[in-house]
Amino acid sequence: MTGQGYKGDFDLFIIGGGVNGCGIARDASGRGISVGLAEMGDLGAATSSASTKLFHGGLRYLEYLEFRLVREALVEREMLLRAMPHISWPMRFVLPVKADMRFEGGTPVSRIVATFMPWLKGRRPPWLIRTGLFLYDHLGGRDILPGTRSVDLHAEASGTPLKPEFKKAFEYSDCWIEDSRLVVLNARDAASRGATIMPRTEVVSAHRDGSQWRITLRNATQEWQVRAQMLVNAGGPWAGAVIKDVVGTQSGDQVRLVRGSHIVTRSLFDHKKSYFLQGTDGRIIFAIPYERHFTLIGTTDLDHPDAATPPVCTDEEADYLIDFASQYFKEPLTRADILWRYSGVRPLYDDGASSATAATRDYVLKVDDAGAPLLNIFGGKITTYRKLAEAAMAQIALHLGNRHGDWTAGKPLPGGDFPVQGFDTLVTSLLQRYGFLDKPWATRLARAYGTDAFLLLGDAQASDQLGSHFGHEITAAELDWTITHEWVETGDDFLWRRTRLGLVTSTAEAAAIDDYIRRSLQTGKIEAAAS
Ligand SMILES: Cc1cc2nc3c(=O)[nH]c(=O)nc-3n(C[C@H](O)[C@H](O)[C@H](O)COP(=O)(O)OP(=O)(O)OC[C@H]3O[C@@H](n4cnc5c(N)ncnc54)[C@H](O)[C@@H]3O)c2cc1C
Repeated sequence: MTGQGYKGDFDLFIIGGGVNGCGIARDASGRGISVGLAEMGDLGAATSSASTKLFHGGLRYLEYLEFRLVREALVEREMLLRAMPHISWPMRFVLPVKADMRFEGGTPVSRIVATFMPWLKGRRPPWLIRTGLFLYDHLGGRDILPGTRSVDLHAEASGTPLKPEFKKAFEYSDCWIEDSRLVVLNARDAASRGATIMPRTEVVSAHRDGSQWRITLRNATQEWQVRAQMLVNAGGPWAGAVIKDVVGTQSGDQVRLVRGSHIVTRSLFDHKKSYFLQGTDGRIIFAIPYERHFTLIGTTDLDHPDAATPPVCTDEEADYLIDFASQYFKEPLTRADILWRYSGVRPLYDDGASSATAATRDYVLKVDDAGAPLLNIFGGKITTYRKLAEAAMAQIALHLGNRHGDWTAGKPLPGGDFPVQGFDTLVTSLLQRYGFLDKPWATRLARAYGTDAFLLLGDAQASDQLGSHFGHEITAAELDWTITHEWVETGDDFLWRRTRLGLVTSTAEAAAIDDYIRRSLQTGKIEAAAS
């Protein structure tokens, strides 16, 4: 892992190692710009590991007439899928419909329908949903993903777990994305192109010094300064705090913090499709097959007080999700079914919308060039992170010079250099080369590391050559790989962000993994990823 060229002087310095900061770092370093990035926690530890994990156009945003955002995101789905066929894959969504389903109050489309079809009385009829799905299928174009079809829920497996009152559904396509792996693979790619990635490093202050920024950084052991020509604020939920407290400037633009929570239960169904469920309040939630044995249900939309308040899924939010899902599934859910919950804060651009649900999900970039330039990032989605990075580069080029054109479209992330349809072939190759793997193990490694799984496993002829085993096919070789290439420094980094194996490991197994990682770093047995 490179940190080459680190002299404390950068062309571009990025505050924040979420998907947007790491996406910009990758794009910029690939254009020959020297980049430093500081993340005060683990990479992706904030919002970018707490999403619903979909590369999606956002069907519901059509009701807000957000055509620019939806179209861009729809086009991006397949672009991103091609560049990372290990951590992203197509998913089918089953959307049950009934005549009495209702609109979210006050959306532009609900107002239009109320004006011209008052007899619908706030109902969202199936034909309108089908029209939305027609647009969804065609707005962004599709080569890989199949289009919408109608489903007889009484005749297909996807109807089996649902209450019999649900007879009809539409089924459409979007994609899954392993959100926190997306962040770390962007950081890896940036580092391989010369960026200096510094997790666990807080930007304490940044001041203009002539035409440059003087930036004070702090980690667990020291405080030091670097200089940069341009600064990017990709602080996500902290973007407002960065403007006010770190840089000490004013901005007319604000982030609106909107909390979203998820619950995880045992698998509620035994097929691979997901559900898009409409509630009596007009909101929607997803129920998605998750990590082999579980179902992921979310999300909520609630205003969150400030970035300093850690987001948690409250009992009220958990009950809301349970009640919502129980309106659909034959077997009602209770709190006892919840195995894990998590919550994240959407750093939305504050467009003055009346409700958290209605606030725009589009991104807004603002340059403050009263001296050395500062680029503030507001909003955005995981799905649009690459386009956001390109838009940021267009602004950055105005100040640092246009050294290189856009280059990231379709360019594989580490381990993603195989065809979209080639995942099963990759698993078969791993099974052939490493006779000691079984299919679930090979599949997990292929999903997490793609073609890099061969590098991780090296010349091993037998599983005991991978070092200690920690349960659930976790070996010392895998931990060593993530320490060396993915900035892993604690058990939680590995169990909850590089993987989600925290869902299946026991307390004792998690402690042994944490201990191994910390001892490896302390003794210098394994070289940490460079910063
Ligand atoms: C519940 C929920 C569901 C979502 N689902 C989806 C989805 O399915 N699909 C989709 O496309 N999008 C989804 N999103 C949106 C998406 O997750 C976010 O838009 C995206 O992750 C924001 O990334 P970011 O890099 O801006 O912020 P973050 O990931 O929060 O990164 C910002 C980082 O900046 C760091 N930082 C802040 N201040 C400093 C400082 N002074 N020094 C150093 N570091 C600092 C923070 O520690 C943080 O890690 C969802 C969001 C939520 C909350």
